Amino acid sequence: MRTKVVVPPETASAAPVQVFSAPWVLPVVRPPIRDGAVAVDAGGTIVAVGPRADVLGGLGFHDELEVRCEGALVPGLVNAHTHLELSWLSGAVPGGDGVIAWTRRLVEKVTAARATKDATTTENSRFAAAVAAAHAARALGTAALGDVGNGILGWRAMAHARLRGLFFHELVGSREHRTGDALADAAAERATVLEPELAGATPTIPAVPAPHAPYSVGPDLIRRIFAAAAAAGLPTTIHLAEDPDEVALLADGSGGWPEVLRAMGVDPGERAPRLGPCAYLAGLGAFGASDGAAAPPPLLVHMVCAGPGDRRRAREAGATVVLCPRSNLHIGGRLPDVAALIEEGVALALGTDSLASAPDLSLWAEMRALAAAFPEVPPRRWLEAATDGGARALGLGSTLGALDVGRRPGLVCVDARIAPGEPQPERALIANAEPSAIRWLALAGAEPSAHAPTSAGPSPVVAPWPGPYSPSLSP
Ligand SMILES: [Zn+2]
Repeated sequence: MRTKVVVPPETASAAPVQVFSAPWVLPVVRPPIRDGAVAVDAGGTIVAVGPRADVLGGLGFHDELEVRCEGALVPGLVNAHTHLELSWLSGAVPGGDGVIAWTRRLVEKVTAARATKDATTTENSRFAAAVAAAHAARALGTAALGDVGNGILGWRAMAHARLRGLFFHELVGSREHRTGDALADAAAERATVLEPELAGATPTIPAVPAPHAPYSVGPDLIRRIFAAAAAAGLPTTIHLAEDPDEVALLADGSGGWPEVLRAMGVDPGERAPRLGPCAYLAGLGAFGASDGAAAPPPLLVHMVCAGPGDRRRAREAGATVVLCPRSNLHIGGRLPDVAALIEEGVALALGTDSLASAPDLSLWAEMRALAAAFPEVPPRRWLEAATDGGARALGLGSTLGALDVGRRPGLVCVDARIAPGEPQPERALIANAEPSAIRWLALAGAEPSAHAPTSAGPSPVVAPWPGPYSPSLSP
């Protein structure tokens, strides 16, 4: 690989621009480019994308002044659902028999750790595990997370690893019961973080409250959380339709949750609205308040047991369904109807969930799991969900998620051997994106460049683009 910072002669006084080229460039929002290149300014902003000859010619470069990737260039990935705070439980929570049993084991582990005060479970050790997981995610080509945490440890770990994204401060009914106002209590907890600590990420990672799930949070608090997120102008997230017990509780108060809730002193009737998951959330303001006030649509995580009505409501609301296939297989042994979600045009993102239910934070492994389970789906769908889909869902679609002029998504080289005539290069990319094949060429997260690409600088170069991807299953 040759590495040089280059300055186009005609813009020598402007910020330096670097050109990256590869046999394949996968912009995500445009078709793959054979023998392509991407030009990036010093602030990380893409100023040109297209066939290599056009990019070099358009910028007045000579061909020796470039960084070469011998595989495929892709934008930094966006992992839309993690729980960094659970990283210390890596591999420690067996699954296979559903959410209730898995959650019970998780709680037992946490309770036992508190009792023994084991050195591996101290706050410092948990933070170290979260930081290590965040850095490992970044090393796998991840630029941003949608991280969910009961506490704020994951938020701090994101900043430590210089990841971008959004922190979802997750609330459960017991916090409301204990403090009288979970939202105020959580806000006070976030205020304890020193601003310089979060300034590790550029810009500072915003935080927003999020309800855990319909069975663990009462309707009044869910409504207040959605209202708070809307007032902040940020999307929030919720685990939804993850398991048959949850859907049974909501539909008619049956399944395994009523017994668990009663044991916790919660009236199950309060959480059994006799509605489907999305219909229930709609009534609580998840998809915009009844007064018509606009709110960024939420990220609906899992949707394993979503029905046609849930998919329709999600699509109509512009909500994103976050798929975490390896976690779903670990906990409950089944996957959502992804083919139906795609066929019906529901926006998709990918997440890994936590290390307590997935072996690592690799979105590449999630893409491989989906490709194996749904071979009829064109593989570009998975790359799209793992990049632009997550970026848009987190409100970062103008900066992250695609190799597009004006965005600052970071640039990842995957040393995957892809045949020159390959009609679906994403298939070989996903199959071959092992950790040793991945390296960052330009990092995401820089502030917007003062040198806008459309100002005095060179004209953007773009590949021909026939139109948006259709939501059909055809390649
Ligand atoms: Zn989760």
